[in-house]
Amino acid sequence: MHIWKNCWQCKHETPQNRLSYVIHPKPVEGFSKDKNTHKATQFWLLHIDAYQFTQCQKCGAPSLHIDSLQIKNINENLINEIRHEIEENGKYNSEAVSSISYPNFGKSLISEKKWSYNLPPEDMLLFFEILSAYEKELYTLALSGIRTLVDRYIVRKVGDAGTFAQKLKKMLENNHISSKQYEVLNTIIDGGNAASHRGFNPGQQMVKAFLESIEDIISLYFKTEQIDELKKQIPQRPRK
Ligand SMILES: [Zn+2]
Repeated sequence: MHIWKNCWQCKHETPQNRLSYVIHPKPVEGFSKDKNTHKATQFWLLHIDAYQFTQCQKCGAPSLHIDSLQIKNINENLINEIRHEIEENGKYNSEAVSSISYPNFGKSLISEKKWSYNLPPEDMLLFFEILSAYEKELYTLALSGIRTLVDRYIVRKVGDAGTFAQKLKKMLENNHISSKQYEVLNTIIDGGNAASHRGFNPGQQMVKAFLESIEDIISLYFKTEQIDELKKQIPQRPRK
């Protein structure tokens, strides 16, 4: 009997032999927060983890798949239904299910953004932290990091004299950025300030857009470093 699961080595869904299957329900404490009083009230939930240890039929790689879901009322029939469906199909079809698989090598955004390895060490580490926060859905932290990275980039280009608005203007005047990029950086800094001082929690869509924009601006230098070298290889036009 096989089930279809994502294989980390084949990098897509493959038929896999199931070597072991354990379903493990446990009670967990949750809380709800009152919108007006901000008071937290505890309640109990049943958290169900289904562990399936599999081996890919195509490449032989082993994986552990954990499908989890929480139910509010302890309901034996529902638990049996979930147990049975995973037994049969390898998964329980519900929007409430979250799934993780181990190992998950090479899934990090860091390996996709190799240009960043050329950043100065302190900025490279900050960039890795931003990606890590983004991947963990810690969007407010990611945005604060993006703001700091922008700040450092600007200081490196035009020095640290004056207010932020003055420094950004100098970036434009010295042709480090275009007028469109000037607007973009202004918006990113405003978003970062709102997250720091105005209780703003940005969403995934906003942080993703900011991350891509800042990457375009900062990475350009590193991505085009070779161009001067390559330019020498292009034959010159004959003079008339
Ligand atoms: Zn495989």
